[in-house]
Amino acid sequence: MNWVFKPSPVVGCPVLNQDLIFPVNNIYCVGRNYRDHVLEMGSNPDRESPFFFQKISEILLLPGNSLDYPDNTKDLHHEVELVVAISNDGYKIKISEVKNMIFGYAVGVDLTKRDIQKKAKDSGRPWLSGKVFYGSAAISEIVLKNESLEPDKLEISLNVNGEIRQRSGCDNMIWSVNEIIFLLSQTVPLGPGDLIYTGTPSGVGKVKKGDIVSATLHQDNSTTLSFQIE
Ligand code: MN
Repeated sequence: MNWVFKPSPVVGCPVLNQDLIFPVNNIYCVGRNYRDHVLEMGSNPDRESPFFFQKISEILLLPGNSLDYPDNTKDLHHEVELVVAISNDGYKIKISEVKNMIFGYAVGVDLTKRDIQKKAKDSGRPWLSGKVFYGSAAISEIVLKNESLEPDKLEISLNVNGEIRQRSGCDNMIWSVNEIIFLLSQTVPLGPGDLIYTGTPSGVGKVKKGDIVSATLHQDNSTTLSFQIE
């Protein structure tokens, strides 16, 4: 049997200090996972169950690339996030099995057309049009789990043209990395190559053409991603 057409190429993300490329499969994102960001968006920060949305691997903004300012928006926002890279299959796993699922961590930027997302929200529609476009999921190199601190010891930050916009410890998450993986696996079969963007702290804001955006995952083995908006 032959393929009807050539299968799509796999998108790969480099691994820090290794001669390895992580093949990306699904991209999941958590909404509203830091209390101060929930408040700044005008929502209720009570510990309701987390909710998820998806991006597609074709739109990853890999290290070293610039972002073309997307059409159809006047309010492009940055959201810095801890990204978890998944290395094993897991469906309806136990909380004790979560640690076997994690390959490593990266810092990412969930780029959002805030004006388009607001329209979708206001009419009770999915966020896809505000969240999924070329370059809308920026990611750094991935730090191996055994070369990284635990998520609750990590900090993420983002600056625009050298000016700090967001900085937070990942211990400020409403739902921890372990809880997110556990809960997401109750709904979807997670698998090797999946990435999970775990939500953003407060300080989200507008970026424009010409801006240089830098985000860092802070620890001894720090990793930074940086891109210009063209
Ligand atoms: Mn986000």
